[in-house]
Amino acid sequence: MTTPSRIALALAGVGKIARDQHIPSCAEGADFDITVAISRNGRIDGADNFTSYDEFLEKRRDIRAISLCTPPDVRFEMAKKAIASGFDVLMEKPPAATIGEAEALRELAEKAGVVLFATWHSRFANGVEPARQWLDGKTIRKVEITWKEDVRRWHPGQAWIWEAGGFGVFDPGINALSILTAIIPGQTIVEKASLAFPENRQQPIAASLKMKSAEGAPINAEFDWRQEGPQTWDIVVETNSGLLRLAKGGAELYIDGELQVEGPDREYARIYSRFAELIRSRRSDADFQPLRLVADAFLTGERHTVEAFIE
Ligand code: NAP
Repeated sequence: MTTPSRIALALAGVGKIARDQHIPSCAEGADFDITVAISRNGRIDGADNFTSYDEFLEKRRDIRAISLCTPPDVRFEMAKKAIASGFDVLMEKPPAATIGEAEALRELAEKAGVVLFATWHSRFANGVEPARQWLDGKTIRKVEITWKEDVRRWHPGQAWIWEAGGFGVFDPGINALSILTAIIPGQTIVEKASLAFPENRQQPIAASLKMKSAEGAPINAEFDWRQEGPQTWDIVVETNSGLLRLAKGGAELYIDGELQVEGPDREYARIYSRFAELIRSRRSDADFQPLRLVADAFLTGERHTVEAFIE
């Protein structure tokens, strides 16, 4: 049962991120009850479970909000149908498979008068908003992004991630780009990219991006999925008055080597608070700049073939 102050939520795609983050964040948070789950293989105990999305749309018109935790290649059709049925929609990152799909969803949501929240979970990491505030008004001289992790550890058995439209190493890399575009003002521009494709896969396992800020500061990013041992999710910003470092995916903030911000992971708790706030104020939040940077990396990228990836 949902109390009047809590919002009944449907969740589609009961996979890794739904189990790791969405379900516990809703259970612990003050705003949402997951009353419906839609997944062909997964279930949520205590929810009304559907295996067919269309059947859910037909039968549960009483629910007004939905969280889409499916991979990006199927997100557009699901979001489009949810918008047409009058749902307020939260979309996991990346918001869609292409910019065209993302922009179309924005327009459809606007026309339908529903809330569209394209989430970027890394933007809700502890250090990101303090980093944005610290950088405000400073001159940025250079940015270095190092995002290196072990794909076997973080994406076990996820075949979709290697298929066309699956994003490959940009699935984590876009998290770095979502932080970058939250803390650096203006549009970031991709100048060139180098993409390493395993000979047996459709998506890159590593990528190097040369970018620049709107004001011309160089921004370099190294994304790699072949890192075993310690994992690295760092952004270092050199400014006219100090060096900022976001470590552990934005969880920790250092200024000139001194730790400023740390603490427990509250990314998804903040995402759901934000979704509730957007629903109550009838506003959308859909910024697609990180997706545009990935698209531009594919547009400008040189392709290199590397050894086959066998999981
Ligand atoms: P996952 O474990 O593969 O789960 C995806 C879910 O979507 C599955 O429950 C699957 O459910 C459903 N699904 C897959 N293909 C589908 C299709 N063709 N039609 C309908 N449903 C389909 O993936 P995940 O790691 O949770 O990632 C999902 C999204 O969350 C991605 O966009 C990813 O970038 C994002 N994300 C993931 C992480 C992470 O750590 N894994 C972190 C942050 C964000 P059924 O097969 O049961 O229908």
